Amino acid sequence: MNIHEYQAKELFEKFGVPSPNGKVAGSAAEAQAVAEEIGGGNYVVKAQVHAGGRGKGTFKNGFQGGVHLDSDPVKIGEIAGQMIGETLVTKQTGEEGKLVRKVMVAESVDIVHEYYLSILMDRATSRPVIVASVEGGMDIEEVAENRPEKILKQFIHPLAGLQGYEVRKLIKGLGLSKDAGKQFAKLLTNLYKLFIESDCAMVEINPLVETTDDRILALDAKFGFDDNALYRHPDIMAYRDKDEEDPREVAAGEYDLNYIGLDGNIACLVNGAGLAMATMDIIKHAGGDPANFLDVGGGATKEQVAAAFKIITGDPNVEAILINIFGGIMDCNVIAEGVVAASKEVGLNIPLVVRLEGNNVEAGKKTLQESGLNLITGDDILDAAKKVVAATQAA
Ligand code: ADP
Ligand code: MG
Repeated sequence: MNIHEYQAKELFEKFGVPSPNGKVAGSAAEAQAVAEEIGGGNYVVKAQVHAGGRGKGTFKNGFQGGVHLDSDPVKIGEIAGQMIGETLVTKQTGEEGKLVRKVMVAESVDIVHEYYLSILMDRATSRPVIVASVEGGMDIEEVAENRPEKILKQFIHPLAGLQGYEVRKLIKGLGLSKDAGKQFAKLLTNLYKLFIESDCAMVEINPLVETTDDRILALDAKFGFDDNALYRHPDIMAYRDKDEEDPREVAAGEYDLNYIGLDGNIACLVNGAGLAMATMDIIKHAGGDPANFLDVGGGATKEQVAAAFKIITGDPNVEAILINIFGGIMDCNVIAEGVVAASKEVGLNIPLVVRLEGNNVEAGKKTLQESGLNLITGDDILDAAKKVVAATQAA
């Protein structure tokens, strides 16, 4: 799960990671009011979406940039008005962009230097890794690609935790002055604590800045949390913004289905994650493109199957469906009944290929045959894949 920058700021405050004073606003008037409340004469207004690259982004209405500085609260309100309700396209949003519903208004600071700092879980070493660079700012991807020697990495032993010498190594690598280094050490220690205690998958501050008045501050914040640990953090779970998520995945989550939306045109409904992976592979092997990963689980009910079927048929990119079930614990007839119920409700006007095998398969096949649904049967997994790909090519 991801959260917005203004929410990240609240976590920073809780854990003692310094960042500029600021607040979220949902309208132009609110944005102006927040600027007036902050006072001090220099403000930044930032589009709040779950994507980075906002500074260099473009709105579909032609307005340039999702991050703006201004000294006049009235102007801050006007800029917020240009952003709210508009779609922002950045390097990270894809060309469809993201609708901006809120902005954050914060104190703007005078920057001496922009650094990069993040902590993530490294799968290869099974350890947290701190990544830092003197070349922070808006193009860290470019730095990583062209000047990898500018990226510092410090792996942390998960039991020993962050050690003083590891922090000092980073301070030296970044070339921080004595005072800046002291502030950095405190910030990083608190950030590491936040990362571990909140079960983060990643936290990224880009840029981390040194200001003209000698402060080290987090200007931007991006968080990813380990979904499997979210139950331990109801306060973080409350930050969830379903508007930012794939609506197909939100619907699937409500029915406890494991669904991931993809870009292809062949939907699949499968029981078991391994078989679902294999099904996507075999669709590819047969020359097609899967529209999703969907594991209905081993003990799915008729209602869950029906919900799953509705989600995949509701995807406008889908041109054919492949149901691949190997009934171990799963009763094939439960799948059949769910599919029949859902297709009667939503109508079925695209080819449906079914491969059923295993527990109670005869009853399942009978339910499908007697339903009057127009379906194609696959003899085995490869045959089914070939038939569903052929069906999309004929269409
Ligand atoms: P994104 O990474 O989505 O483009 P950032 O929050 O990193 O958004 O903002 C982009 C740039 O805007 C930063 O690199 C920084 O130069 C500037 N900026 C952001 N917040 C502030 C601020 N509070 N004061 C001054 N400049 C800022
Ligand atoms: Mg940034």
